Amino acid sequence: MARRPFVCGNWKMHGTPSEARKLVRQILDALPNLSESTTEVAVAPAACALDAAREAIADGPLALAAQNVHPDPSGAFTGEISVPMLADLGVRYVIVGHSERRSLFGDSDALVRAKVDAVLAGGLSAILCVGESLRERDGGFTLNVVRRQLAAGLEGIGRSGAGLDRVVVAYEPVWAIGTGRTATPEQAQEVHADIRAQLAERWGDPGLAVRLQYGGSVKPSNAADLFAQPDVDGGLVGGASLKASDFAQIVAAASPGPA
Ligand code: PEP
Repeated sequence: MARRPFVCGNWKMHGTPSEARKLVRQILDALPNLSESTTEVAVAPAACALDAAREAIADGPLALAAQNVHPDPSGAFTGEISVPMLADLGVRYVIVGHSERRSLFGDSDALVRAKVDAVLAGGLSAILCVGESLRERDGGFTLNVVRRQLAAGLEGIGRSGAGLDRVVVAYEPVWAIGTGRTATPEQAQEVHADIRAQLAERWGDPGLAVRLQYGGSVKPSNAADLFAQPDVDGGLVGGASLKASDFAQIVAAASPGPA
């Protein structure tokens, strides 16, 4: 089944609004043929920089993503941002369940599910992050952990699969995020194939159409080998997405055509 490659840069807590504007321009300059590319590309600036990034994207072929969201549409939740607020800012994708959210900010499986549900109900797309810690991998629990996070995150999607076409799953082994230690292409493929099988078992063809990104120290030097795996449909890129030339090379590695 043909799936459109998708690369998203997660800028984390890097970049003021002015810096975000500049980086968007640099990325668009580094990818002059992006509008003809087969690969879809998004960037996820910090919340305060979304509007500046949108301004710099203008009508350019870059999608805007947010790094987090609150499940409620509005209310007394000081410091939080809702789906309708993100939608109004032109955001298309929301990263949900990133391991930093899970480990540093207490995002449980239940909260991740509520966020995915809210994103889909609000008409946006979710990038659901799943992945095991080093201890879990060493203990032989990788697939159990990933299956649990996947099932929990997508629990709100019924048998009909409504909304599944707006779900992307990012497999991000925690031990590979920001560590410089990348999963081998074979390790990534093994988990991606299992995620694919879980999705197909539950939803059939719509499950097979879900795009699966790999994340964890993706760099220009390893992107092509990772993206060549049959079940790796692109990447969620942290550190390397902050440098336009590196990010552009990673996008090119996902694109059979011009980028
Ligand atoms: C991430 O934050 O999602 C990520 C994969 O980071 P890095 O590429 O820096 O490992």
